[in-house]
Amino acid sequence: LKSNFVESLVHAVSNSLTDASEFIPLHEPRMGELEKEFVSSCVQSTFVSSVGKYVDRFEQEIAGYTSAKYAVAVVNGTAALHISLILAGVKKDNEVLVPSLTFAATANAVCYAGAIPHFLDSEEETFGICPTQLDNYLSDTCDIQNEVCINKKTGRQITAIIPVHIFGHPCKIEEILEVAKKYKLEVVEDAAESLGSFYKGKHTGTFGKLGTISFNGNKIITTGGGGMIITDDEELAQQAKHLTTTAKVPHKWEYVHDQVGYNYRMPNLNAAFGCAQLKQLPKFLQSKRDLYERYSEQLSGLNGIRLLKEPAECSSNYWLQTIVLDEPDEELRNIILTALNESGLMSRPAWTGLHKLEHFKECPKMDIKVVNSLGKRIINIPSSSFLCE
Ligand SMILES: *Cc1c(COP(=O)(O)O)cnc(C)c1O
Repeated sequence: LKSNFVESLVHAVSNSLTDASEFIPLHEPRMGELEKEFVSSCVQSTFVSSVGKYVDRFEQEIAGYTSAKYAVAVVNGTAALHISLILAGVKKDNEVLVPSLTFAATANAVCYAGAIPHFLDSEEETFGICPTQLDNYLSDTCDIQNEVCINKKTGRQITAIIPVHIFGHPCKIEEILEVAKKYKLEVVEDAAESLGSFYKGKHTGTFGKLGTISFNGNKIITTGGGGMIITDDEELAQQAKHLTTTAKVPHKWEYVHDQVGYNYRMPNLNAAFGCAQLKQLPKFLQSKRDLYERYSEQLSGLNGIRLLKEPAECSSNYWLQTIVLDEPDEELRNIILTALNESGLMSRPAWTGLHKLEHFKECPKMDIKVVNSLGKRIINIPSSSFLCE
């Protein structure tokens, strides 16, 4: 029975794709003549490094697309998070609330800022932080003293929270903001995976004090490697530019730095690539939505699984397509993963819950029930935007 089910599932995934005769990677970047044209013009300009017109243009265009007032281009999404946490006021030995179900970079950036990740569970619908569970947990765990949130168990200040829009699906960001406000927490939004995803018509990453985007090779658009900090606060945007530019005080010839800064700027070459990619984002979004529809149709006959769908009142970029088993059955999950990968359909499970990683084992955490269950139920299937064209 199991093997029939697995066979049908592999068949359904394969049937959804226009050409599944070759090996299909999980997520491939997609590029063409425009990328060549822009990068070549960048080379001709000789401004290939950290300043240039493509950096300015890419920043303006991302700000325009997301309706954030300001955007600051950086080397990658992790650096964007690092700087955003510093600017949100995260200090050494503070705690920062982070979902356990996310890519390691979210928690790593907290450590770069000298702080300690404090892990949260997720909810079934969006895979993001559950606002209700968060409120209950914080009311048990924290005290507000002199307008700051103190973890009663560790005595440390909890400064910020990083909601993540997992696989591109918007989390319940408005409700999370409410809870964050109640407990005096700054919000840095990790929108690394969710360029093109909107919550009630507002772009993800624009709800928190600062938001971050990644343009890594596996994201919906890429700059090779790259990231962006977005914010509506002019002063924070200026500080982000300053801190990522080695904190050098602008001057025609003097080299004076007013603090320890970072060399985190995005090179113009990468920004040129990004400008070309951004032009194609609407096409990528449509293709990914079409792919979801195909998978959805093909998989609809199978019991015991569902396909992760954009939450109500949201528009998702469908960055990674996700099959979710109804029951936490690790053995079945592994059989499916093996069958898909052996058929040339690259698939993978969710990231290991961060609270389980050796170096994060001692970190404070809530009861991580849902993430532990989802860990045995999530299967990401081929998601490149051109797969059903
Ligand atoms: C990709 C990703 C990052 C990090 O971005 P990089 O550009 O790879 O540094 C951070 N958070 C999440 C959720 C991501 O998926």
